[in-house]
Amino acid sequence: MTPPDTIVALSSGAGKAGIAVIRASGPGAAVCIRHLAGADVPARRAVLRTLRNSPAGPAVDSGLVLWLPGPGSVTGEDVAEFQVHGSPAVVGRLLSVLCALDGVRPAEPGEFTRRAFENGRMDLSGAEGLADLIDAETEAQRIQAQRQMEGAFAERCAGWGAQLRRSLAWLEAAIDFPDEALPDDLAAQVRPAVEAVAAGLAGWLAAPDRGRMVREGYRVAIVGAPNVGKSSLLNRIAQRDVAIVAETAGTTRDVIEVRADLAGYAVVFADTAGLRYDETAGDIEREGMARARFQAESADLVLHVVDAAAPAAGPPADVGAGPDRVLTVANKTDLAPAPPDVPLGVSARTGAGIDGLLAAIEARTTAAMGAGEHPALTRLRHRQCLEDAAAALERALAATEAELTAEDLRLALRAMDRLIGRTDVEDLLDLIFRDFCIGK
Ligand code: GDP
Repeated sequence: MTPPDTIVALSSGAGKAGIAVIRASGPGAAVCIRHLAGADVPARRAVLRTLRNSPAGPAVDSGLVLWLPGPGSVTGEDVAEFQVHGSPAVVGRLLSVLCALDGVRPAEPGEFTRRAFENGRMDLSGAEGLADLIDAETEAQRIQAQRQMEGAFAERCAGWGAQLRRSLAWLEAAIDFPDEALPDDLAAQVRPAVEAVAAGLAGWLAAPDRGRMVREGYRVAIVGAPNVGKSSLLNRIAQRDVAIVAETAGTTRDVIEVRADLAGYAVVFADTAGLRYDETAGDIEREGMARARFQAESADLVLHVVDAAAPAAGPPADVGAGPDRVLTVANKTDLAPAPPDVPLGVSARTGAGIDGLLAAIEARTTAAMGAGEHPALTRLRHRQCLEDAAAALERALAATEAELTAEDLRLALRAMDRLIGRTDVEDLLDLIFRDFCIGK
C-alpha cells in the first residue's frame, strides 16, 4: 500500500553548477508547489517561477516548476517538480523548506520507484531495469536496461501466461464438471500449448548468459607463465599503472581487474598470478595460482600470454578452458617475432599490436553479447523464477492426473508472475529498492 505521506528528494544533479531536479510525490505535492511557487501553477506545463519560503519573503531561487497531478505521473501520485540551480546551498535550502511542511518528509532510497511499482506504473523487472539504467556505464548496458525497463519480460510472460491460463481453465473445467460433455482427450489438447511454453522457457534458459555479461562485463582472464608480461599488458590496456610490474617471477599474487569499454560493451580484464607448476612454490604463490585457475575457469575468455622471446617457457599445460574460450597472444615482439603458431603478437613495452589484440577481443565480445532472440536475464532472481516455472511445467507434462497437471500449471504461472513482481514479492521489495540511489 502507498503510504499517505509525501516524499521529497533531489532527483538528479547535485553539484556546483547546472540544474538540479527536486521532486515531491504524494498528496502534499500540491502544497509544496503552492508554498514555493504560488497558487497559479498550471498542470503539465513548465513555468518559470521565483521560489520563496513565504509570499513576501526573499527569493530562495528561481527555476522551472512542473505540476503533474496523478495518476498521470511517474509515481501515479500527485508530483511536483522543481528544476533549480544545482548548487548544494540552493538544493539544501529548498529540501529543508519542503520537508518542514506538514506531512512531507525526505524519500528513502528507491522510494519513488517503489511507489511507481506499487501504483502499477511499472513492473518489478522494469524497476530493476531502471536501477540498471541509472548505473549504466556503456551503451550496451544502457540498451539492455532500457529494454528491460520497457517491459521486455512482462511482454513475454504475458504471452506465455495467457497460454497457460487457457490450458488451466480447460483442465479445471474438466475437473469441476466431470459429467459435462467435454472433449475426452482434454489433456492431449492442452499438451501442445504447455509443451510450447516449456520449449520457449527452455530456450530462454539455455541462451548464453548475455544479461550477466552485459551488466557485469565480459570477463577476460589474462593467464600465462610468470614474467611473460601479463601485468605489463594489462597496464598497456588500462593505460595506467594498475598492476605491479616486477623482474622477479610470481609478484602478481592477487587478481587485479581493469574495466574497459570495447564497442560499447563492458569488458573486465583480470590479471592473475602466473599459472605454473612449481613444487617449490610457497603457500602464497600456490594460493595465487589457485585463484588464477579459478579466474580462468569462470572467465568468458582466457587471454593466454606467451613470451615471444622465450618460447621455451612455453604454454602452461592447463589454462582451465577449452580452445574456443582461449585466445593466445605472444608478447615481447620487440625482442623476437611471434612464434608461427601464434597469430597475434604484441609488445606491451612499445604498444605494438595492442590495437589488433583489442580488436580480436572486441570481436569475441560482440559475438558473445550481440542481440539475441531472448531478453537478457540480468539477475539471478530472473533465472530462478524461470527455472521454477520450467520445472513446474516439466512436472505438469509428466503428470498423469488432471488435478496434478493443473496444480503444476498454477505453480508455473506463479513463478512467472514472480518474475515481473505480480505475486509473492513483498520480502523482495526492500532488497531490490535498497539498491537505488536516494531520490530515484
Ligand atoms: P607477468 O609476471 O607475466 O605479469 O610479467 P610482468 O608484466 O611483470 O613482466 C615481466 C618482465 O617482462 C618485466 O621486466 C617487464 O618489463 C618485461 N616485459 C613485459 N612486457 C614486455 C615487452 O613487451 N617487451 C619487453 N622487452 N619486455 C617486457
